[in-house]
Amino acid sequence: MKSGLREITILGAGPGGLLAAMFLAKAGIPSLVLEKETFPRDKICGDALSGKVVEILKKLDPALVDRMAQNPQIIGSYGVTFVAPNQKALRVPFKQDYSTLSPAPGFISKRLDYDHWLAEEARKNPLIDLQEGGAAVDFSRENGVWICRDKAGEEIVRSSLIIAADGAHSRFAKQVGGMKMDPKHYCAGLRAYYTGVKDLDPDNFIELHFLKNFLPGYFWIFPLANGRANVGVGMRSDKMQGKKINLKKEMLRLIDSDPALKDRFADAKLESTIDGYGLPLGSEKRSLSGAGWMLVGDAASLIDPFTGEGIGNAMYSGYFAALQAQRCLESQDFSAKAMSQYDEEVYLRLWDELKLSKRMQELVKYPWLFNLVVNKATKSKTLSEMISCMFEDLDLRDRLKSPSFYLKLLFNR
Ligand SMILES: Cc1cc2nc3c(=O)[nH]c(=O)nc-3n(C[C@H](O)[C@H](O)[C@H](O)COP(=O)(O)OP(=O)(O)OC[C@H]3O[C@@H](n4cnc5c(N)ncnc54)[C@H](O)[C@@H]3O)c2cc1C
Repeated sequence: MKSGLREITILGAGPGGLLAAMFLAKAGIPSLVLEKETFPRDKICGDALSGKVVEILKKLDPALVDRMAQNPQIIGSYGVTFVAPNQKALRVPFKQDYSTLSPAPGFISKRLDYDHWLAEEARKNPLIDLQEGGAAVDFSRENGVWICRDKAGEEIVRSSLIIAADGAHSRFAKQVGGMKMDPKHYCAGLRAYYTGVKDLDPDNFIELHFLKNFLPGYFWIFPLANGRANVGVGMRSDKMQGKKINLKKEMLRLIDSDPALKDRFADAKLESTIDGYGLPLGSEKRSLSGAGWMLVGDAASLIDPFTGEGIGNAMYSGYFAALQAQRCLESQDFSAKAMSQYDEEVYLRLWDELKLSKRMQELVKYPWLFNLVVNKATKSKTLSEMISCMFEDLDLRDRLKSPSFYLKLLFNR
C-alpha cells in the first residue's frame, strides 16, 4: 500500500482516530486513516459507552446517535450499580426519571460491533480514506514532512501532520512522543464474554463490584445484547506487581467462590477466551503534541483512573485534534508551539474530571468509607439522588474529596 503525499494522516481507526477523521471531514478536510486490522475487528474493552460518547457523537451529527440507537447490537444503558465491599448494592441512574429518555443516556456494545458501525459511518464520507490491513511502525521527519514506513521498511505515506490514535501500545507515542509506561498510572484489565449470568439488570445498568478480597481492584458485569455479558477485572499495575497477583486466576476464583457472584455464575457459560490489555490512565498530565504531531485517546493516556472509561475521552481528543489540524492548515504552522494549543484544549475539557477521578480511585483504599457511603445512600433518597447527579455535575463530585462530606454522612441519619 503506497499512499503518496497527504496533508493529514491518522494512525489507527479506533474511536479516537475515527472521530478525528469525521470532524475533519465535517470541516471539508480530507484525511488518510491507516488501520492495521480489518473491520470488523475486536478490541479488548468493557464495552460501556458513557454519556460522553453520546455527547460528542451529537456534536458531530445528532442523526448519528439515532442511527446508533437503532443498531440492535448497541443497547441503551440507564445507570450503574456500585457494589461495596460489604456487598451492599447502590443502584444509581445516570439521569433521574430515566424511563422516558430516548435515546438512552449511555450504551453498551461489543467493540467488534460498535467500532465496525463507526468505521462504516466514517467510510460514507468521501473525504475519509480509510485503509485497513496495514500497520505503520516507523516514523521519521525530513524537511517538515513525516515518512511512515511498514515493518518491511517500505514507505507507506508522506504527510505534513500525523494524528497518532493507535491505542495503548502506540508505536508513535513511544518512538516520537517519548511516552513511557508508568505502573502508577497504568491499569491491567481482563475481559471475557459470558452467557447465562443470572439477574442482569432489567434496564441494563452496568455493575461495578468492589469486592473485599480483591481491593484495590474491581470486577465488572456489563449486560450486552442477546443475553450476553461482558465480564472483567481491572487493577492498577503497581498494586498488582506489589501483591504479585495473577489477574486471570483471581477473576476465575471470584466467579467460583465469591458469595456475591457464585450463584449468579452457577449456570453461566464462558463463550470466549479471557483476554487482557492495558489501560493507560490520565492521572497525570503529559505532553500530547510536538512539531507536526498529536497523540489522541489511549496513545495520549487519557483513560479515567476511577471508571476505566476511555472511549469518550478518546473521541473528545479526536475532536480537539481535528480542530488543531484545521488551524495548522489555515496558518501553515505545524510548529510545536502552535500544536501546544491542542494540549491546552484537551486538558481544559478533561483535566478536572481526571483529577477528581484520581482522588476517587484513592478512596478505594478505604473500604470502610466506601461501605459507609453506600450504606447511607441505600437508606437516603436525597443522597442517592445526589450521587446520581454527580455523573453530570463535577461540583457535586468534588464534594467527595472533602472530609466534611463524610463527617456529615456519619452524623446525618
Ligand atoms: C479491559 C479493558 C476494559 C475497558 N473498558 C472500558 C469501558 O467499558 N468503557 C470505556 O469507555 N473504555 C474502556 N476501556 C478503555 C477503552 O478500550 C480505550 O480507552 C479506547 O479503546 C481508546 O480508543 P482509541 O481510539 O484511543 O484506541 P483503540 O480503540 O485501541 O484503537 C486504536 C486502533 O489503532 C490500530 N493500530 C494500532 N497500532 C497501529 C499501527 N501501528 N498502525 C495502524 N493502526 C494501528 C488498532 O488496531 C486499533 O484499531 C477499557 C480498556 C480495557 C483494556
